[in-house]
Formats: sequence, C-alpha cells, structure tokens
Amino acid sequence: MMEWLPTTPEAWFDFLVYASIGMCAFVFVALFYFPAAYGRYNTGNKLWGPGINPRLGWFLTEVASCVLFAVIYFMGDYAFDIVPLIFLLMWQFHYFHRTFIFPFTVKVRPGATTPIGIPLMAFFTNTVISFLNASILTWATISRGYDISWLTDPRFIIGVLVFVSGYYVNKKADAMLAALRKPGESGYKIPRGWLYEKITCPNYFGELLTWVGWSIATWSVAGWIFVLLTAANLVPRAITNHRWYHEKFDDYPKDRKILIPYIL
Ligand code: NDP
Repeated sequence: MMEWLPTTPEAWFDFLVYASIGMCAFVFVALFYFPAAYGRYNTGNKLWGPGINPRLGWFLTEVASCVLFAVIYFMGDYAFDIVPLIFLLMWQFHYFHRTFIFPFTVKVRPGATTPIGIPLMAFFTNTVISFLNASILTWATISRGYDISWLTDPRFIIGVLVFVSGYYVNKKADAMLAALRKPGESGYKIPRGWLYEKITCPNYFGELLTWVGWSIATWSVAGWIFVLLTAANLVPRAITNHRWYHEKFDDYPKDRKILIPYIL
C-alpha cells in the first residue's frame, strides 16, 4: 500500500529534496496571501489552534533543529571527523541560541500568544531540514565526505565568512528590535540606526546570509534547499512587514528598501 515510500536513507534524501522544493513553492505563494499568524499578524483566529506562550512557541519551533539535528548527526559514520564537527559547531552556534536563548530575549507583549499550529508546522519542516543537513555531514551513503583538506578549500573559507557575517547581522538586528520596547511598553516603533536605515528587515537579511554561507561552506544540495525554504518564509514576510510599517507610520522613511540593501 505504501510501496511508493523510499526504503533507503539515500532514497529518503532524494524524496525529501523534491518534496521540499514543492513545499517551498507552496509556502512562498501562500505567505503572500496569509502571513504566518505569529507576532503582529496573529489576529486571534482559531484556525491555527489554541494560543500558547510565544516563548514556548519559539522553543517548539526550533528544538528539532537543535536536538534532532544532533541526534541525526551522531547516528552517522563520520560524526567524529574534524570537518563535520566544525559544521556541527556552526549549526549549533546558531540553533542552540535560537532554541534556548532567543525565546527569552524577545519582549513579549502582555497577553500575546502564538497559535500552536505555527510551531507544530515549523517543527515538521525543521525535522526535514535537519535530516537533510545533518545526513550530508556524517552519513556515509549520503555525505560527499569532508576530509581535512576541505578546511583550505575556497568554498569552505568564503562560506564560513558569509555565515559569520550573517550570524552577526541577524543577532544584532534582533537585539535592536528587542531594545525598542522599554520595560512596561508593548507597542511598535520605527527601528532606527545601522542597517535599519537601509532596509526594513535586517534580521531576515542576516538569516538569509547565514544559510547562504552554510550552503557555500558545505557545498550541498541540502544547504540550498534550506536557503530556498528560508527565502520562501522570509521574502513574503519582509514584503508584508514593509507594507505594514508604511501603513502604520506616516513618517516611515520612504527610501528604506525591504530586505537587501540598495537592491530589494
Ligand atoms: P520580527 O522582526 O517580526 O520580530 C522579532 C521581535 O521583535 C518580536 O518580539 C517582535 O514583537 C519585535 N518587534 C518587531 N518589530 C518591532 C517594532 N517595530 N517595535 C517593537 N518591537 C518589534 O521577527 P520574527 O519574529 O519573524 O523572527 C524572529 C527571528 O526568527 C529572526 O531572526 C528571523 O530571521 C528568524 N526566523 C527565521 C525563519 C526561517 O525560515 N529560518 C522564519 C521566521 C523567523 P512581536 O512578536 O510583538 O511582533
């Protein structure tokens, strides 16, 4: 009855790559019409299930990318090789923070919730992304095999530099947003300074750069699938955020781009 399902890890990998491309196309189009119902776009509609604490929402969203990724990684044959270990560190550098620290840095509005359907859906997609990106590092039948010479390969060096730049931009931009709300405040303000003078969503720009860097450094289909999924999520949301700022604030700077300085 389920004969169409893959039976080997390699076949699962290919299956999930194609399924993810389809999912990205769907997500990209859908989010232009229906912004993901968390943060400012949670209208209280029960379609996505009951609301939970936004911090718990973030934890559930990201925990697969931290914990399941590590489990899948250590199931592989090359788990203790140097280069895969460096990639594991890079990944966890981002995801340990996103799962266990970031949820406690956001300034949650009193009474705000996240509908449970949003983190559950993200948990599912992050499980797929974790399988693809961990298995390419350590599973013998899937990995390209990263030996020590990869450390001097220009793809690794450039990729790591882009990853670190993206990480810095993402974290700094998120921290600037968190600093906008002083104790007791719960509204929205126009972010000012640094990259916010150029674009509306530097945090999303940094996130995209991070995964572009990862893709270059790992030189992998799995990495590019993740870039595609991140773009499918963040490009429509950045455009919607930009429009939202212009509608909410008459004095929102007219020359700010949306997501990529000077370009988009
Ligand atoms: P937002 O920029 O929408 O919000 C981040 C935080 O800042 C929220 O707590 C929000 O409050 C607050 N905030 C935003 N704008 C203002 C403002 N003008 N004034 C005051 N406070 C403000 O980011 P997201 O929540 O969408 O994303 C958070 C992180 O997660 C980002 O780093 C993003 O890159 C990452 N992410 C990654 C995805 C991926 O596919 N890899 C997908 C989605 C997010 P409130 O919640 O009340 O609106």
